[in-house]
Amino acid sequence: MACMLCGYEKSEKLFNVKDADFSSKEYALVKCNNCDLISIEPKLDPEEIRKYYESSYQDESGAKFKSVYEAMEGAFKASRAKYIMKFKKEGVILDVGCGRGEVIGKLAELGWEAHGCELSEKIALKARQNKKLKIYTECFEDVKFKPEYFDAITLWHVLEHVHDPKTYIKRIYDILKKDGVLILEVPNISSWQARLFQANWFHLDAPRHYYHFSSKTLKRLLMDTGFNVKNMNSFSFEYGPFSVLQSLLNSMGFTHDLLYGMLMKSSPILKQKKLAIEKLLTVLLIPFLSVISLVFAYFEALFKGGAVIRVAAEKKI
Ligand SMILES: [Zn+2]
Repeated sequence: MACMLCGYEKSEKLFNVKDADFSSKEYALVKCNNCDLISIEPKLDPEEIRKYYESSYQDESGAKFKSVYEAMEGAFKASRAKYIMKFKKEGVILDVGCGRGEVIGKLAELGWEAHGCELSEKIALKARQNKKLKIYTECFEDVKFKPEYFDAITLWHVLEHVHDPKTYIKRIYDILKKDGVLILEVPNISSWQARLFQANWFHLDAPRHYYHFSSKTLKRLLMDTGFNVKNMNSFSFEYGPFSVLQSLLNSMGFTHDLLYGMLMKSSPILKQKKLAIEKLLTVLLIPFLSVISLVFAYFEALFKGGAVIRVAAEKKI
């Protein structure tokens, strides 16, 4: 299959990844021989992939995690709002994949005109409780936005789920003002943790993640669609230490992503089999492994090899 990014036909297989939620089906991670873009094969079509989102992302109340973690989520969302404010102090914002609208809710309070796309009707209902927000439940591609309307558009962990990221980013280009800013974050496939843990890396999330970007391939995608990168960093307190911890547990032979399942309100993993002993062992190991994970996440980010790539980009003039 031709590469999404460069069109080259040849790729090499890296390793297999397991679908941990529903089956023991394996997918392959492949790397383009020309531009190094990494993607999963086969990519499930929209009908097949739907059940993976319905079951494990967020529950009916819109909450994704149990209460302890939910409190931390609040702090993470605030830090996203702060990052946006570094580049734009006011204006019109669109958050694609806005969930319950926490980030744009904070910005609306500060005077922004805030729009959000959220595919799940149930979760969109939560976002709509904030009357200041304009929420769309159609696919981002189908909403009729005015050209050059937004001052800022954000994609937090969205692009890796998109079938055709190039067309997606081109559409963003069209609806962003000339001096607008695109902010996006994706898992970093060239991070230390991804390289070390390979198939056991938490953020592979097969088969939901179609594409795995490095700073090189993400930069190329943005350049090819008319953007210049203004700011790029890889440290994430939200995604870094936890994913080292979960990947360590995966490598030690525990059920894949079990700890993550334990933190979530509803998880298909926990429904599969009785895991009492594994759960107990996991809890006992957490204090020790957490220290290792924090130190690891700190150092990888220090050397620009952190768990995520967060980018702010502007249109080329
Ligand atoms: Zn390529």
